[in-house]
Amino acid sequence: MLNSFFETYFKMKSRVSSHPMKSIHNFINGKYVAASSVAHFENINPATGESVSHVVRSNKEDLEAAVQAAKSALPDWKKRSMEDRARILYNIAEGIESKLEELAQAETADTGKPIQFSRSVDIPRAAANFRFFAAAATQFASESHDMAGKAINYTLRQAIGVVACISPWNLPLYLFTWKIAPALATGNCVIAKPSELSPTTAFMLGQICNDAGLPPGVLNILQGYGSEIGEAMVQHPEIKAISFTGGTKTGARIASIAAPQFKKLSLELGGKNPCIVFSDCDYERTLKNVVRLAFSNSGQICLCGSRILIEKSIYERFKSDLIEEIKSFIPADPLDPQTKMGSLISKEHLEKVDSYVKLARSEGGTILYGGEAAVMQGEHTSGAFYLPTVIEGLGPGSRCNMEEIFGPVITLQSFHSEDEALKLANASPYGLASTLWTESLSRAHRMSEALHTGIVWVNCWLLRDLRTPFGGMNQSGVGREGGWEAMRFFTEAKNVCINFAAR
Ligand code: NAD
Repeated sequence: MLNSFFETYFKMKSRVSSHPMKSIHNFINGKYVAASSVAHFENINPATGESVSHVVRSNKEDLEAAVQAAKSALPDWKKRSMEDRARILYNIAEGIESKLEELAQAETADTGKPIQFSRSVDIPRAAANFRFFAAAATQFASESHDMAGKAINYTLRQAIGVVACISPWNLPLYLFTWKIAPALATGNCVIAKPSELSPTTAFMLGQICNDAGLPPGVLNILQGYGSEIGEAMVQHPEIKAISFTGGTKTGARIASIAAPQFKKLSLELGGKNPCIVFSDCDYERTLKNVVRLAFSNSGQICLCGSRILIEKSIYERFKSDLIEEIKSFIPADPLDPQTKMGSLISKEHLEKVDSYVKLARSEGGTILYGGEAAVMQGEHTSGAFYLPTVIEGLGPGSRCNMEEIFGPVITLQSFHSEDEALKLANASPYGLASTLWTESLSRAHRMSEALHTGIVWVNCWLLRDLRTPFGGMNQSGVGREGGWEAMRFFTEAKNVCINFAAR
């Protein structure tokens, strides 16, 4: 049954445009259900411009059905033993791995990202998320505080109840499951919404969860627009916590609705990440990694470096070598396993990226490489492909150095000293991730301590240990995900104080 479901879906997402259109439904109470209204929208493959499926446009009635299902499932789910919850999460991880190829194909069709990236990063990480939090469920413990001879306090960490997980399109199943897995591991029931631009793998996850033995109603997946169903989820009084990843403006909007209702909020938002290259770096390793951290997923990763700060003494050499290296990142067919750069998420997003390049020109910047849409052939003629773009000559306060572009566009700036590098790096209103490239141990420590970002990578990028706190400061968000941080976010701490003193 499941195989034929995936096979049909896989064919539908393939290049055969004459194949009959499929519908992406909601997943409520363990079943795929049509939305309460007939409204839907088209799911476009951004690499071809073709519509590949209809997606239901959920409304408040659908949300109500999902909330009721989650509420009914909650008493049983939160009482399950930790071993039982862990077993089901392990099963989901295995289910994802057994469908790796179908899921990877769907991810690439929705987003235009290289198939190799979907196969080696997106889908394996989605499985790893479930496996990691399955283990965490069995290891999560709480504190006790002894008041010598008088009393003992212990902390209960209890499921919050019905919670919402809202995720973006850039790493669809990867980020969707990064939220859902800890929410389930801690005994919550979840209403989750993927981005309207990448609905398919979330849709497929429903069946995988059923096969893994997840009881109906524990996870409900609603499809639709953020401004409609997403906002309704944030407003709903029975949803007690919201874990959100997406843009900073959306995060601010969500906070303005949720805060007066005193909901728990985790906000993982945008970034404008500095990458600092010192002259004492391991040159070849740094060069290769700077290209990777700038242009992976077409620069559409919140952790991508977009402001490349290079020590003056190596600036000219590094700049020309960087431009040579970028030539291996030329946009090509996302389904070719050799392709390193696919399309952007949409034509609209391409227009936004291009408007920043135009702005850079008007701000006095020089385009050293790229700076325009890529000219593609055949079925990709209408795709949203943009050349990797390198800009120099912009001051730290220019809009292109202050605002998140979220595309394959980097700026180069030079610095003379550690202090100047730090000042440039910290000039952004964001504070998500920075990378440092130096062989000096003491400099690495000094800089790491002084950088205003939630994550500092030294001589590496995207090297992830899922136990570490993940998140940003300032306009990059509030709270941290990962490891115990996520387990704590999805639980309420209750202190129990037992007086054992003799009367
Ligand atoms: P977005 O904010 O437009 O949308 C994110 C999600 O929120 C989508 O599911 C969307 O439907 C929903 N949404 C939109 N408006 C909403 C509303 N009013 N109420 C509730 N939900 C709403 O972001 P995007 O364009 O999908 O993603 C790109 C952004 O995400 C970038 O800014 C990027 O930096 C950020 N991001 C951050 C992280 C991180 O961990 N910090 C990771 C990935 C992406």
